[in-house]
This record gives sequence, C-alpha cells and structure tokens, in this order.
Amino acid sequence: MNSNVFQRISDAVADTGKVAIETSSGRRVTYEDIILESGRLANALIAREVAPGDRVAVQVEKSVEALILYLACLRAGAVYLPLNTAYTLTELEYFVGDAEPKLIVCDPANRDGIAAFAEPKGAAVETLDKAGAGTLIDLAAASSHAFPTAVVGDDDLAAILYTSGTTGRSKGAMLTHGNLVSNALTLKDLWRFTSEDVLIHALPIYHVHGLFVASNVALLSDAAMLFCARFDPDEILSLMPRATALMGVPTFYTRLLAQPGLTEEAAAGMRLFVSGSAPLLAETHREWQARTGHAILERYGMTETGMNTSNPYDGERIAGTVGFPLPDVELRVVDPESGVELAADEVGMIEVRGPNVFKGYWRMPEKTAAEIKPDGFFVTGDLGKVDPAGYVHIVGRGKDLIITGGFNVYPKEVESEIDLIPGVVESAVVGVPHPDFGEGVLAVVVKGKEAELDERAVVAALEGRLAKFKLPKRVLFVDELPRNTMGKVQKNLLRQENAGLYSRPA
Ligand code: AMP
Repeated sequence: MNSNVFQRISDAVADTGKVAIETSSGRRVTYEDIILESGRLANALIAREVAPGDRVAVQVEKSVEALILYLACLRAGAVYLPLNTAYTLTELEYFVGDAEPKLIVCDPANRDGIAAFAEPKGAAVETLDKAGAGTLIDLAAASSHAFPTAVVGDDDLAAILYTSGTTGRSKGAMLTHGNLVSNALTLKDLWRFTSEDVLIHALPIYHVHGLFVASNVALLSDAAMLFCARFDPDEILSLMPRATALMGVPTFYTRLLAQPGLTEEAAAGMRLFVSGSAPLLAETHREWQARTGHAILERYGMTETGMNTSNPYDGERIAGTVGFPLPDVELRVVDPESGVELAADEVGMIEVRGPNVFKGYWRMPEKTAAEIKPDGFFVTGDLGKVDPAGYVHIVGRGKDLIITGGFNVYPKEVESEIDLIPGVVESAVVGVPHPDFGEGVLAVVVKGKEAELDERAVVAALEGRLAKFKLPKRVLFVDELPRNTMGKVQKNLLRQENAGLYSRPA
C-alpha cells in the first residue's frame, strides 16, 4: 500500500464535491479542487527540478494555496520544510545552508533577499503571497492537474520541521509519512472525527499543531475546515455556530474567555475544544467549563513526535494533566541520571516510543543517538510524572529545572502556588545565576489590574506552603509574560533579561 499522506487523504474522500476548506472571505475549496490544484503544483515543483527526497523550504503567510503546496510536496515525494514567518533573513540563511533545499517558496517581499544567498547555493526561489498569488502559482496554472502521486513507504521522509531552538542550534526533525499518517489516524479515532465535522482552523501552518494535528486530522477524516488567516476572537465566536471543533493554544482560550459573547449558547453546537503546545492553566480549564459547559481536552506533543498523550474523549478530562498516552504510544518516566524507570507520582524525564517518533535530526547523527535510545525510546526533554490513575503531568522542560544550593526546584510547582494567590493572573518561575546558590529562584508575576499585591505579600503567601529553598528570592511584576506565536512563555528571555539580578546589590 502507498503510505503517502496525500494518497491516504484522497482515499478517504467519499464525495469529491464536498467543501474541504472555507476561508474567512467565503471562498469554498472542494476536495476535488485540492486534488486538482495539488496536481498542478506538484507538476510546477517537477518543472523546478524538485525530485523525490529533495527539500522544499516554504516561508509564506497562511493561505489555502500554502496548505495545498504542502500536499503537492507530499504528492511529489519531496520533503516539505515549513518555516516560521517570523524568521529573519539571517535565520533563513542558516536553514537553507543546513537543509540545502532545491526550491524555496517565499513571500514576494523577501524574494531578492533570499535569492542573494540561496541561488549561489543552487536553490531556485519562487513566490507565494498571502492572497495565494505568486510566481509558483503562475507556473502551476500553466501546468497539468494530472499527477501520479509518488509511491512511498512508511519510513520515507515527508517533512523536516526545525525545533524552536531556544538553546543552541535549531535542529531539523525528520518526520516520515508513517509518522504523520499513524498519528493523525490515532487522533481521528480518539477524538471521534468524521466527515460531519467542521473544524475552526486558526493556527499557523508552519508548526506541528496547525499542520499535522489540525489539517491532517481534518483532511484524513474527510471533514471541513473553516480556515482563518490568524486568530481573531470575534471571528472564532462568529464561526462557532457553524462548527463542531476548535483546536487551539492556551492563549486562544484565555482570549476567548475575555469575550462577553462566549456563552453556553454560543458554544452549543460545538462538540470538542482541544488545547496544546503549552500548558493550559487549570484556572482556564475551570472557567471555560463554567462559561460554556465544555471541558477543554488537553493533549501533549512536540515537533519530534507529533502527539504523545491526550485527555480522554469520554472519561474525565483533568485540568492540569495531559491525559493518557495515545493507544499506540508507550510512555515512561525515568531518572534522568540513571535511566531507571520511576514509580507512579515520581518526577523524572518523560520518554516515548511509537510509530509517531521521528526518524532523527537532519544531518545530526550524534544528537539523534543521544536522544533516541537503543531501545527506541525518545528522550522528550520534558519532566513529568504519571499519577496512580495513569494521567500524565508535565512539570516543565528539563532545561527549565532550577538547581539552587544543590536542591531541584520544578518551576511548575512554584507557579501553581503563586497562581493560587488572589490577585495573581499568571506567573513564570525561572532560575538565574546567584553568587551563593548557583541559581536563585525568580518569580515573574502578572497581577490583575485592581490587585494590590507586592513582592512581600507574594513571598509571605508562599511561606509555609513551599519548602524554603523553593521560595522566590525576588518577585518581579510585569504587564504580560513574553510568549512566542504558539503561546509558549519564553523563559529563555526572562532568564536573559534578569541574568544579573542576583549579582547586583538589591
Ligand atoms: P514544539 O516542539 O515547539 O511543539 O514544543 C513541544 C513542547 O511544548 C513539549 O516538549 C512541551 O514542553 C510543550 N508542550 C506541548 N504541549 C503541552 C501541554 N499540553 N502542556 C505542557 N507543555 C506542553
């Protein structure tokens, strides 16, 4: 059987005349359109000498054409390499040097800047703008729609996604057709997606969440997507009566909660709200349930593995947990030093194994060997535990662990206590260099507009609740926490900005 993701999607289509994508401007794209247009684009790729296995780097705004370009790459057997639109030319130069794409598709505004370093390296450059026009589309329009989809095996590369790289060089995670198909089909079954579903798609499509979770699950379910160029809470509310499901990052939910129009009635036709990519505050989960009657389903995954765990569809969705390992994913928690598997409730390194786990890092065999163990388990870098009921809890990234005076402090534990203090909206706890302790705990807090809260009051509220070594030595107040586009708090920035805090006289 052909393992090509595109082949699997087209095999799942029952009625090619069905609308697969509807945009904010009311444009309707049927499954037949997707099949024809992806054929034209695949022919355009071949015209630009893209052969199976060649990388196609794409840095464009979200559009229907951009999504179809992803499918065209799969059809051609090429390796799709999506790049965050926020990356600068200097960053792009690194990715192009590392991945050596045959073709780069970019916004017309960046064409010349990219061509200057890419063309001498032998890469062709074509354009695609946010309206879905550009030189690549012109080339496709002049091409035939007939295209024999490349026959690939489970183990053949479908995509390379660069990790966010908050420390060190960004690594290219190699994902296979088998990885993408297995993960999307598992989620489709678990979350009960069918051709009746209408998914609100407001995520970017250069990341696992918007591309492989949202788009692949919807397309492999023969479902429809309401495709939004960006997240706009008013628009989401206006779409809800026509939709059945929403997939979002936690900030989607906090911003929607700020809308008076979010009511039980507004969400009455929806059957599923999924959150992931960053931790959802238990508070958000509770508020959402109170306002809409729906328990948000939180799941956990990453670039290298796709999704690993999910709260149950039928069983209890527990706030602050990421649920159970997916049916085809094995998960264990081990001592980070010895590698010995830990008992329930003990915090350690989360490792996973399954058909979702990537093939390795592009041209980095040592890094791959360091993170995929000989028995096939991938070291996620996330610290967590499995509770006696089997729910997985994420405690933080390994690199966010604070070691102060020889003691380990898990930021999440301190953040959870701070978040319980009346007047606190949210918090981030990081370790910064300290002359005596190696690292000192620092809390960065966002408080409510009316809240009368100062540094002393926060520390006083924590005393007696947390061991003394876990108490923040300083508490700083900010208007908002720095977040990246996927809603992750950028702790690296907080660490950088405050690196000298404990070496300066208070
Ligand atoms: P990325 O590879 O950019 O998708 O980032 C993956 C990382 O995001 C994971 O390793 C986790 O640290 C974090 N993450 C994803 N989903 C969740 C979640 N539901 N709760 C907590 N952290 C999460």
